[in-house]
Amino acid sequence: MVLDGQVAIVTGGSRGIGRAISLELAAAGAAVVVNYRAAEDAAAAAVAAITGTQRRAVAVQADVTKEADVKRLVSSTLSTFGRLDILVCNAGITKDKLVAAMSLQDWESVIETNLRGPFLCVREVVPTMMSARSGSIILMSSIAADRGGRGHANYSAAKGGINAMVRALAVELAPKKIRVNGVAPGVIVTDMTERIREFAEEEILRQVPLKRYGRAEEVARAVRFLASDDASYVTGEVLHVTGGLGV
Ligand code: NDP
Repeated sequence: MVLDGQVAIVTGGSRGIGRAISLELAAAGAAVVVNYRAAEDAAAAAVAAITGTQRRAVAVQADVTKEADVKRLVSSTLSTFGRLDILVCNAGITKDKLVAAMSLQDWESVIETNLRGPFLCVREVVPTMMSARSGSIILMSSIAADRGGRGHANYSAAKGGINAMVRALAVELAPKKIRVNGVAPGVIVTDMTERIREFAEEEILRQVPLKRYGRAEEVARAVRFLASDDASYVTGEVLHVTGGLGV
């Protein structure tokens, strides 16, 4: 297995794309810390799905926007598994509104979860990875970082920031043998996209060259590639998993 003996944290690993990533990394041999904010049952179900295959996983509640929670997430990972090789910053939210109607709270909550959260997580894991002179960090971006769209200036700004952060961190951390990459999904079937798929299916699928939505497992496989030594010479990249949307 490509990730045998390694330990991964997946933020927002309980549902949607994060759940698929947790299962994928575990299937590749990693022990996985499934982070969640509120949905304890979903996190427990993801852990059970992994431990049922004789792989190791634990659920850890932590809000990635809170510094103390992130410190606890990383310290409990190290005390449970004794090492940390992979960080996947997947937790994310949307608060879509046309800009004239977007409250400051809509703006700030999206920036806090989608941009400040990854910063806090990266900052917390880097000392451990630097000591090991090894590590792979994957930040979840979005096609929304590259393409205009109505109603998500907050989300697009956060994900554009992620792409810039991937490049900056890749250069900064390369001397320590830590690779940093992003994954930018298109429209994937999860709770997050339920409403937009309901209201704009025809318009979306018209724009997707592969003429279908993506599956969370298809994003997870890209993450597994970037996490593993198969991507040993890949850093500073944002890998698009979009069915060709925006090409
Ligand atoms: P979901 O809404 O299905 O799941 C979101 C996950 O993030 C949940 O596990 C949730 O935990 C967790 N989460 C949210 N806020 C926090 C927080 N403050 N602290 C810790 N965990 C948190 O989202 P998706 O699976 O669709 O999206 C996952 C990532 O992929 C996001 O970064 C999103 O922006 C990105 N993405 C998704 C696309 C899509 O089409 N679905 C397209 C492009 C990018 P809990 O349930 O406990 O709240």
